[in-house]
Order: sequence, then structure tokens, then C-alpha cells
Amino acid sequence: MKKPSTKKLPAIRYTIVPKDLAGHLFEVSVTVDQPSIDGQLFALPAWIPGSYMIREFSRNIVQIRAESQGKQVALAKLDKHAWRAAPVDGPLSLHYEVYAWDLSVRAAHLDQTHGFFNGTSVFLRAIGQEALPHLVDIARGGDPATKTWRVATALPELGAKRYGFGTYLAANYDELIDHPVELGDFALASFKAHGIPHDIVITGRVPNLDMARLQADLKAICETQIAFFEPKSKKAPMARYVFLTLAVGDGYGGLEHRASTALICARADLPVTSTPPTLGVSDGYLKFLGLCSHEYFHTWNVKRIKPAAFAPYDLQNETYTALLWLFEGFTSYYDDLLLVRAGVIDEATYLALQAKTIGSVLRGSGRTKQSVAESSFDAWGKYYRQDENAPNAIVSYYAKGSLVALAFDLTIRAKTDGKKSLDDVMLALWQRFGRDFYAAGADGGRGVTEAQVEALFDEATGLRLKPLFNRYVRGTEDLPLHKLYAPFGVRLHDQRKSDKPSFDVAIGRDGADSKLAQVHEGGAAHVAGLSAGDVLVALDGLRIGGAATALDGLLARYQVGQVVQVHAFRRDELMQFKLVLQGERVPGITLELVDPGKKVRGPARPSA
Ligand code: ZN
Repeated sequence: MKKPSTKKLPAIRYTIVPKDLAGHLFEVSVTVDQPSIDGQLFALPAWIPGSYMIREFSRNIVQIRAESQGKQVALAKLDKHAWRAAPVDGPLSLHYEVYAWDLSVRAAHLDQTHGFFNGTSVFLRAIGQEALPHLVDIARGGDPATKTWRVATALPELGAKRYGFGTYLAANYDELIDHPVELGDFALASFKAHGIPHDIVITGRVPNLDMARLQADLKAICETQIAFFEPKSKKAPMARYVFLTLAVGDGYGGLEHRASTALICARADLPVTSTPPTLGVSDGYLKFLGLCSHEYFHTWNVKRIKPAAFAPYDLQNETYTALLWLFEGFTSYYDDLLLVRAGVIDEATYLALQAKTIGSVLRGSGRTKQSVAESSFDAWGKYYRQDENAPNAIVSYYAKGSLVALAFDLTIRAKTDGKKSLDDVMLALWQRFGRDFYAAGADGGRGVTEAQVEALFDEATGLRLKPLFNRYVRGTEDLPLHKLYAPFGVRLHDQRKSDKPSFDVAIGRDGADSKLAQVHEGGAAHVAGLSAGDVLVALDGLRIGGAATALDGLLARYQVGQVVQVHAFRRDELMQFKLVLQGERVPGITLELVDPGKKVRGPARPSA
């Protein structure tokens, strides 16, 4: 093959333009300097790392053509994700449009208010050339609405000025798609955490946003986490970090990346400026800080310490790992714990958060059928595709995974007389598998296998922890939390009221009526024959209505064991049920600090 007409080293070059804001179209091109002599293959990922569901992003490619040196080139579609261009002698370009109208952290979105994209939604992968440098020219385009827009991304600038349109550089394809990009008139604040620049970018209208508070709280959280993984050097694994936040009326979500995170939050969750300054943390703000803490912890735990199955990612197919209880569950454990250690919340708030998690795990009978290892493995088909039967069939590797972390932590602290903790396991994982992950070449390191994880728990603590893996990771036993908490001065109370009559369902709304969202296995409604989706009409001849407390209000006049008549619509057919009221089964967990001297979070010293 002849030398292509480029003076520089071979590279993959993209341009992306917000072309039609009202039509939500990005115009994208990719140029391959040295296409494969057999005809260059291209594919768009079928999923985005961090969100374990096949999403088939290529369905948003509206039109596509190939050209080389001004001439049209034949482009054959091979399957739903892939194309092959006819062999050419010289650089090859593809031009295509991407429809961007998914307001989530996982895909791409474009309108007059802003643009956002993940590389997995917009950048076709030149197969076989992933290890080359990938350059992206992010252009402003001609729409007057973009005149005042800036660019926020953790991608290193090549020609561009920071926050400016222009050229950005990724060392390879893997790096390119791990840097989401926000375009718009966002609010911006910066701070340094242990010397590393961090940006908070907020898109969306947020009147009287207290950016100073956000800066101070995030700085505390980030510094705590950097010091957690590198207690001596306090060296962060990235050169820069960006929190890309979209504030909307109602929304919640986050996706982790190696040097940034994409977040969606409710406007009301962000702090408001006030005189005198607000003290304390509202529930909404706590939720937002917890989300930031969670995604930031992933910078180490899943973006660098990775399951072997993700090193490298297979972006065209489901990629199975039984380790999400570690990568999501442990991240969920530490996201709250590090808020206390950062001084952002107090211990009482922390215990309340933990109690909520315990309640959510104990609520579903699915926990007796699926282990967290199975839940991880089946994330693609089950956790990410939950239906009304989910509480009866599956367990969350997030919620139960965080309780598994708690159980390991308390066990390790108790058995080593406070000399070791789960922190030592995380540090060992980091040092062995995470710290040098991206130093290992284009594809990164090798990741960690299930066997290596299990061996490392023993090695880092000097204990034999296999029984815990058998019971709580591969098995479905409930965690013995009463017992585990006891040496730390914490008492667990289950305040379910067995004398409070209940249907044992989750209720949603259907216009002015109540609709059964979930029917819990073995509960009164299940035994009576009611089903999720049934619209409740009347209880003993009295209309139930759609208010959140409507059913509870009617049930307040009854006692456990009484039989009631329930009318409900299934589709458009009216049905009648005899229902024996059961006592409330939904666990109401509280954690009481009976001996404040023995701290769960600190270097714990068991009494026994
Ligand atoms: Zn996560």
C-alpha cells in the first residue's frame, strides 16, 4: 500500500458538529489514514461500559456514506453494528449523522439548550486500528444558538483551548469513548484536590445555585478518596477530573469514567445560596453528594481495578462477570462511608442511610433465590431489565453488595481487633491490579479474576474468609447483621408492625386510581390472587382512589386476619377477590448507636 497523503503519523481523525439542533442531529466524520487493504471495517459499540445492557447505539445512525480522495466508496452493512468499506488506496472517510435525543448519561442528546455525547454513541470504531491515536475536532457549527457555547470534557486538548471548540486527543479508542463531552452555556467552578484540578460543570437552569458549597463539599470528598487509595503519596490516578452534571426537573443517574463522570440530578437536589449559609445536608443534596461520591470512587474501583472480563471490553456483545457485587456493591458501601470520613455527613445520618439499604434488601424474597454473584452475572438480562416481578426474583448487587462489604468490614475489624479492615483489601486490590492499569499499554492491564479477588481478601487480612464468600457472595443467606454490629455498639431494630393490616404490595397510580406496581410473593394480595397491573377499585364496597395513602387509610379500620372483599380491574375486566389481611411485612430498619465510643467507621475496637 502506498503512503497516504498525510504528513503526520497515522491516526484516526473525527469531526463532530452539532448540525441540526431542532432535529437533534450531530454530523460526524471519521478519517482513517491507512485503511485495511481488505476493506476497512467499522463498528459502533452495542453498549457503554458501566451500564450493562445492549443498547445498539448504531440504530441512531441516520445516514452514512464513505469516500476517499473525493470519490464515493462502496460501504456494505454487515450486521446491526458494522460496516465494511471497499478497499481504497489512500485515506478513507465516513460521513454520517447521529440522532441524539436520549436524555440520559448513557447516550447522546442535542437541542437548543445543550449538546452531550458519549463516544460510544457517536464515534465509529475503525476495527484493527484501535491502538492508534484518535483525534477529535469538536466544531461549533453554524447555529446561532451555539455562539455562546463552551466545551467541557476531560479529554486532553490538542489544538483547542480549555473549554473551547477545537481539537482534542485520545491515545486510543478505549480512551476516546471514556470521555463524555458536554457542549453548552454551563455553570462552571473549579477546585484542586491534592493538587489535581477538578471542574464542576452544571448544565440546566438552576437559580441561586450555591457553587461555593458544592466546591467545598466535593473537594472534601475527592481529597478523602484520593488519600484513601494513596495514603502516603496522596497521588490521584488522573491528571484532571470533571463532574459533568445535567440538572433537570426530575432525574437521577450517573456513569463513571476514568477522569470524569456524567450525572443527571434533580434541580431541587442542588444547594441554594442563602444568608446566613444553610447548615446541614438536605435529603436531596445528600442524594447528589452520594452520587458524586459513588462515581468518583469508580475512578479507582472499576475504571482501573477491573474485572478480567472487562480488560479489554468486548463492546459488541454482553460481557459477563460475577464480580459486580465488588465493583458496584463495594462502591455503594464506600460512597456513603467516605462522606462521613470527609466530614460531609455525621454518623447518625450515615447509620440512617445504612438502615435504608438493609430495609431495601430484606424487602424482596428474590434475595433467597439469587446470590449477588449470580445477580452480577445476569445483570444484562435481569438487573437491567427489571419487571414487576423483580423483588420476587432477583437481588440487587448494589444494595446487597454494599451489605456484603459491611459484613466483610465488620468481620475483619472484629477478628483482627481493629488492626485490619476492608480498607486493607481495597488498597491491596488497588496496588496489585489498579495502580498501573493504564500504564500496561493500549488495552490496559489484565483485570482481576474471581479467584484472585478471593485470595487477596485472605492475603490482605491474614484471615480465612472463604466461608463468607460461600454464604453471602455465592450463597443467598441473609447477613447476620445483629451479630456483626454488636461489638461496635450498634443495635439493629426491625420495626415492622405485625399488627398493621397490609396487602403487601407496592402501589403505583393509574389516573385517579391506585394500581398494583408489585405484588410480593406470599403476601396477602398474592395469596388472594391479585396481580401486578391490577387497578384497585373498591375495598368492601368503598372506592380506593388514587391518593398515595388511600389504601392505608381504608385499612386503618381493619385488623390483621379479617377478610375483605376487593374489586379490581384486570385489563378491562372487573374481578372480585377475598383477601385475608396480613400483618405488615415490609421491614422498617433503624440502627441505634448504643455505645458511641465504639465507632463503626473509625479504627474499630470490638469489646469482646
Ligand atoms: Zn456504580
